[in-house]
Amino acid sequence: MQLVAAAAVRMVRQICLLTLLLLAACGGPGSELPLLPDAGPPDYSLGPGDQVRIITYGEENLTGEFRVNDSGNISLPLIGAVHAAGLTSSGLEGAVATALRHGDLVRGPSVAVEVISYRSIYVLGEVNKPGQYAYQPGMTVLSAIALSMTTWRLFAQARARRSKGGRGPRPSSGPAMSSRCSSDGSDNRSRFGRVGAAVLAALSLAAAADTPAPGPLHIIGSQATGCLAGAVQLPSAGVGFQTIHRARSSFWGAPSTISRIESLAAQAHSAGLGDLYIEDISRPRGGPLPGGHQSHQLGLDVDVGLDTAPKRALTAAEREQVELTSMVRPDQRAIDQAHWSPEVITLLRLAASLPDVDRILINPAIKRQLCQDVRGDRSWLRLMRPWYDHAAHMHIRFRCPADQHDCAQAPPPPPGDGCDGTLQWWFDQLALPPKPTPPYRPPPLPAACKVVMQAP
Ligand SMILES: [Zn+2]
Repeated sequence: MQLVAAAAVRMVRQICLLTLLLLAACGGPGSELPLLPDAGPPDYSLGPGDQVRIITYGEENLTGEFRVNDSGNISLPLIGAVHAAGLTSSGLEGAVATALRHGDLVRGPSVAVEVISYRSIYVLGEVNKPGQYAYQPGMTVLSAIALSMTTWRLFAQARARRSKGGRGPRPSSGPAMSSRCSSDGSDNRSRFGRVGAAVLAALSLAAAADTPAPGPLHIIGSQATGCLAGAVQLPSAGVGFQTIHRARSSFWGAPSTISRIESLAAQAHSAGLGDLYIEDISRPRGGPLPGGHQSHQLGLDVDVGLDTAPKRALTAAEREQVELTSMVRPDQRAIDQAHWSPEVITLLRLAASLPDVDRILINPAIKRQLCQDVRGDRSWLRLMRPWYDHAAHMHIRFRCPADQHDCAQAPPPPPGDGCDGTLQWWFDQLALPPKPTPPYRPPPLPAACKVVMQAP
């Protein structure tokens, strides 16, 4: 469940309750849909993607709007990173006040935190528009499903047909719970049957998020929208690696992906590099990852920290707090000599030598450094593709396994080492004013993923 936002987790619990309430409500003529208990914001746990307003009374510099980043932190002027993920708003008020006190920045700080926009939740399954929706305070299961349209559309259809003297449409799938709802005839049957079908579909899908769909391996779709059955999980640590941000990352992938990550870590270890920090691979059944990731949906992608310094074994709590070290200067124009080392090139070369690497995404400044530094065999530079961010981690993408005919393979990178005008383009962009980017909404999953997502 770690991949579903906390708000969604709470809603899954509510689904169970709702299902019971629906069953209990079957006999009541004219019953309206039961209200769900309000999962109000007081105990809402912050997570990546949430936007908060922080007011530090009398301190304009320390007042403003901040986003919880993918590492679960907010970045405050003067203080730096404050870990917010997992805290309530009042918990964050305390954490900010403590940081201000420790830094001797404000005497007797008085801090207020309010959530101004919530991260997304995911509605998957028997709905018209599965995908990512903004969580809102007090949101219930029904309101989430309503957002995704089906329930209310079915209501409208059923009403329209009844008003013409017809019967509502039969649910195309779903449990036979409606047959128990007999006291009020077909009206309640169609109403609760349909809501029940949608709710149970959501329930089974949400529950499914915790576990892989049974094998054999079946990869469907593309990295940007797809799923997989038969995923296996990377252990939390092994020779040469430690997984990090386990509360928000996910570590499931195709068996070949998992064994290649282990192989990369073992090779790096043999080469004398420090443990690799591994984060996001995929959810147990693929699909969109929270936090605005636009890939990682097939179990063929992995994010690996670029820091090769020696590391001790971290505790579970420390692993949640790790900040990956950026190898690039804040101005994005060159690597940061304070952190860069030839060992980073060793790591990148090892990664590029793994079998079936499709490409490896790295920051343009890192690519330019490779173009300058790599001597001898430069053929592997073709796989090193400049991309936004990726200053602290590389994103390794493996090719679709040959026997996976439903896996959409992107064309290979263009020939050559990529150390040409196409690389300069990235730096030219830095001089331009940033373009506003609309919030990311994952596209609907391929229809064939329904079976994977609904498998027990
Ligand atoms: Zn990635």
